[in-house]
Amino acid sequence: MSLTPEQLAEIEAQRATPRPTLRAVSEGMEARLYKAHQVLDHGLIRVIDYMGDDAAIVQAARVSYGAGTKHVSNDEGLIRYLMRHWHSTPFEMCEVKFHVKLPVFVARQWIRHRTANVNEYSARYSILDREFYIPQPEQLAAQSTVNNQGRGEVLSGEESARVLEMLKRDAATSYDHYEQMLSQDGQQGLARELARMNLPMNIYTQWYWKVDLHNLFHFLRLRADSHAQYEIRIYAEEMCRIVADWVPLAFKAFEDYRLGGETLSGRAVAVLKRRLAGEVVTQEESGMSKGEWREFCEVWG
Ligand SMILES: Cc1cc2nc3c(=O)[nH]c(=O)nc-3n(C[C@H](O)[C@H](O)[C@H](O)COP(=O)(O)OP(=O)(O)OC[C@H]3O[C@@H](n4cnc5c(N)ncnc54)[C@H](O)[C@@H]3O)c2cc1C
Repeated sequence: MSLTPEQLAEIEAQRATPRPTLRAVSEGMEARLYKAHQVLDHGLIRVIDYMGDDAAIVQAARVSYGAGTKHVSNDEGLIRYLMRHWHSTPFEMCEVKFHVKLPVFVARQWIRHRTANVNEYSARYSILDREFYIPQPEQLAAQSTVNNQGRGEVLSGEESARVLEMLKRDAATSYDHYEQMLSQDGQQGLARELARMNLPMNIYTQWYWKVDLHNLFHFLRLRADSHAQYEIRIYAEEMCRIVADWVPLAFKAFEDYRLGGETLSGRAVAVLKRRLAGEVVTQEESGMSKGEWREFCEVWG
């Protein structure tokens, strides 16, 4: 991760001036605040600010005048109840603001999550850094043969080396041209808002991304999932570790009901009931499509 000594000093300075507060504080999140966590080769994620903790969820659910919390065991039970029954608004009482540095092609997937507030680094105003995501060789994989939207076997030998070389060379060439187009040495210099159009999608951008806990869980449910592309998934996995420190009870409930849980269709419930009664049910009898049946069997055997 390429943070300059000045940027690191800024982060340290922010951490060096704690202030007393009457607001809810999460010890786990305080330990994380402002610190940068590396993701991919030049990416990062860090928490800039947050509001609320596990107790704030309980407090909102009980519409309490005070802290709202009774015993940790009661609080955990209530949070699990809320998660189990999709009672989402108490989770919206907690908010978090991240600073994320990510490749543009990852940002395109991320921005589809509309229920967040975003402010992105302006490449009309500023010059982008010469930083490109170059995958590790073990991430250079062929098109999947079973999933049209994914990757399969890792490329081997010469092909892998050739692809890596092309990625590096194209990134370097397009950034050289970007600089040459912007340059005002002996020419007018193309506007930054135009010169950027020639840059590849693996260049890094940055944004501040603010979201409430309910919508963050929705994002993590989709993007920390094995079906999500690796390059966004590892951001989501880092966020999961942060959220686990911030709101440990809520995260445990989310992990159990959403990440670890399974949703069943009515047909799937009927098949499971018949199986439990000792019946052998085939895909044709199940009423499920082949794809649905395959996914069902992956979970239930
Ligand atoms: C594995 C995977 C593959 C994907 N593949 C593709 C793809 O091929 N092409 C593609 O275009 N996208 C793709 N997506 C993006 C996906 O379709 C969603 O756009 C994205 O995951 C954001 O989800 P969301 O709309 O639920 O989230 P958010 O935008 O955060 O919205 C959260 C919830 O709020 C509600 N909501 C928000 N805005 C509105 C609105 N305007 N109207 C009604 N309800 C609203 C909905 O209930 C929504 O579920 C993919 C996503 C994943 C995880």
